Amino acid sequence: MRIAVCPGSFDPVTSGHVDIFERAAKITDLLIVAVFHNPNKNPLFSMEERVQMLRDSTTHIPNIEVDSFSGLLNEYAERRQSNVIIRGLRAFSDFEYEFQRALLMKKINSEIETVFMMTNNEYSFVSSTSIKELAKFGGNIAGLVPAVVQDKIANRIAKF
Ligand code: ADP
Repeated sequence: MRIAVCPGSFDPVTSGHVDIFERAAKITDLLIVAVFHNPNKNPLFSMEERVQMLRDSTTHIPNIEVDSFSGLLNEYAERRQSNVIIRGLRAFSDFEYEFQRALLMKKINSEIETVFMMTNNEYSFVSSTSIKELAKFGGNIAGLVPAVVQDKIANRIAKF
């Protein structure tokens, strides 16, 4: 069974992420979307909220599981018996960071392959950060995030 892990902060999940999940799920038996607990980041949504939004946004994908982890990605992948990491690529600007991470992963565990999926044209400009910014200034984020995220973000930002 081919198990792939798609790690990220997903603060919050966007339509760009969901597009990658849909495509990655087609080429794997099980796709594990793993929310990373990054102690250096101050997220807008808690881990539980991010996991819940991911679950609610991916009910149409049968072979997907949403989980969370902290610590090293290679250890998480090993624990989940996966040797494929899926990452999305939007622009050249993503490349350098992803290239470095993929090489580091290779050094740590040469059995693990990092696979990149090119963004869908429609979402190439969508990032969790840009969505939060847009929402903060009252911009329209419809279609750029799953409906469940649109409601949640409006409530959360109104409180600030
Ligand atoms: P991280 O905090 O690890 O960078 P993110 O939650 O921002 O994680 O994103 C997780 C993954 O999804 C990354 O590989 C990122 O490049 C990819 N990604 C984010 N937005 C898009 C998009 N619009 N199209 C394709 N891939 C994307």
